[in-house]
Amino acid sequence: MPKVTETALEINLASLKHNFKFLKSKLKDKTLFLAVVKAFAYGSDAVVVAKCLQELGVDYFAVAYVSEGVALRKAGVKTPILVLHPQEKNLKHAIEHCLEPSLYTLKILQAFERIAQQHNQKNYPVHIKFNTGLNRLGFEPNDLEVVVKELSKTCALKVKSVFSHLAASEDLEEKPFTLEQINLYKSLSSSFIDALGYPVIKHLCNTSGVLNYPEAHFDMVRCGIGLYGYGNSDKESKNFQPIATLKSVISQIHLVKKGESVGYNRAFISSEDSKIATIPIGHADGIGRHFGYGVGAVSIGLEKAPIVGNVCMDMIMVNVTSIECEEGDEVIFFGPEYSAETSAAAVSTISYELITGISQRVKRQIVYK
Ligand SMILES: *Cc1c(COP(=O)(O)O)cnc(C)c1O
Repeated sequence: MPKVTETALEINLASLKHNFKFLKSKLKDKTLFLAVVKAFAYGSDAVVVAKCLQELGVDYFAVAYVSEGVALRKAGVKTPILVLHPQEKNLKHAIEHCLEPSLYTLKILQAFERIAQQHNQKNYPVHIKFNTGLNRLGFEPNDLEVVVKELSKTCALKVKSVFSHLAASEDLEEKPFTLEQINLYKSLSSSFIDALGYPVIKHLCNTSGVLNYPEAHFDMVRCGIGLYGYGNSDKESKNFQPIATLKSVISQIHLVKKGESVGYNRAFISSEDSKIATIPIGHADGIGRHFGYGVGAVSIGLEKAPIVGNVCMDMIMVNVTSIECEEGDEVIFFGPEYSAETSAAAVSTISYELITGISQRVKRQIVYK
């Protein structure tokens, strides 16, 4: 294994493949698989991840914004791409790059209709999103007739799918609410398809929905976090392999005398003679200041070295007094053995936030092992 010589986010495609196969094993053979690769594939590397999944036979991709889809197309990704949250101003670029917008208000539906007509499109694939309880994006159930009427006015657009999003698929205490959402979606999507007069793909479930609500897989599922190796609970997570390992190296070791301080604002005062290692990763790389004051730690071999004092922009200092280590040694912030979920929990957040926050300054290193 190549030794790291700087901070790097290692992406293991063998783990990505494992997670994809595991999620697929939960589906019926004919259920389609949409891989959510928004936000740089949850902070990893969208192009590398999408190309790997494309080869594995994924049916669809989703991104949040048009620019994310354009980047995939420019890198040669050919699989259909759904844009979950297109902004009106970028709609024309969606057409230029064969990206399929989610339409969720009459305003954006009409705007896209106009643009599709201007571009002389016929049957351009679009996706209609309904709000069934998340109250984030989507037409209201009673908009159904208006939407169908609007769509019937034009042959520029053709509905490819009708979908909604669950609010609490990971939380079994909210099961009654989720079942209500599923039932509403079921009747809404049927009425929509009846009114539309042609079949379209139905989809509702994210990763936790796939695992917790097999009855709600419909024609397609939309998985993000599971592909990257995390579930929304320990029970879910144990079947996944985190694809990303955040690694760094020890730049320097200081011997700090009892009573001396370390870092900005002298936030750490050493209570004994200590050995303090400086690591080249900081809040500009996505390690938030909440990790300071001993809340976060790095792993060196099998040992944990807590962060002392404040997290700086480009560096952290960790206490290695009782750890045998030297300058140049590898440290791990999170990875398969040291879950980002656990690190995230220490600062009251979730794996999604920690992994998507690793900044683009951190080099991505692709491995298959
Ligand atoms: C991000 C997102 C997903 C993926 O959810 P995971 O919990 O990461 O599997 C699915 N659908 C929509 C609409 C999303 O915004």
